[in-house]
Amino acid sequence: MMADCILSKIAKKQIKAHIFYEDDEFISFLDINPITEGHSLLIPKKEAETIHDLDEKQQKALGTAIYNVSEILKKKYGINISILNTSGKESGQSVPYFHIHLVPRKKEDRLWEGEKSKVIYDRSSGFKRLSPSKQILEKICKELKNLR
Ligand code: AMP
Repeated sequence: MMADCILSKIAKKQIKAHIFYEDDEFISFLDINPITEGHSLLIPKKEAETIHDLDEKQQKALGTAIYNVSEILKKKYGINISILNTSGKESGQSVPYFHIHLVPRKKEDRLWEGEKSKVIYDRSSGFKRLSPSKQILEKICKELKNLR
């Protein structure tokens, strides 16, 4: 059930996350298993499972929230960023709570293969995520908060 899922609990602040951005409709925090440093998730405060479940207020606020989080990440990591949402199980959505991935990118980062930048988010691909310590996530979160 959606209410039991981890992102729902983070949205309700029942579980702690490294939140560095908040507006009326959305919060953004560091992914616990990032693809690259600064990998963040943007989720609505009020629960919604997929993009199709966003109410009118959330629909209107989404663009601004994506933009604002991208600007914060740009200040620390530069302009390159991959942004992704999966809505629906068959699209690869694994947590039943709407979330957008924002992944800071740079030349020859972990997603590059030879001369090419790949976009690999699918957990079933076997791509190995990072597992930073709480202390590292806390430090990055503090820095990002100050960049707003
Ligand atoms: P997806 O695979 O697109 O459904 O993405 C779910 C994301 O949530 C994954 O990137 C996970 O690493 C991330 N995640 C799961 N639990 C937590 C948590 N407690 N704090 C931050 N991110 C989490």
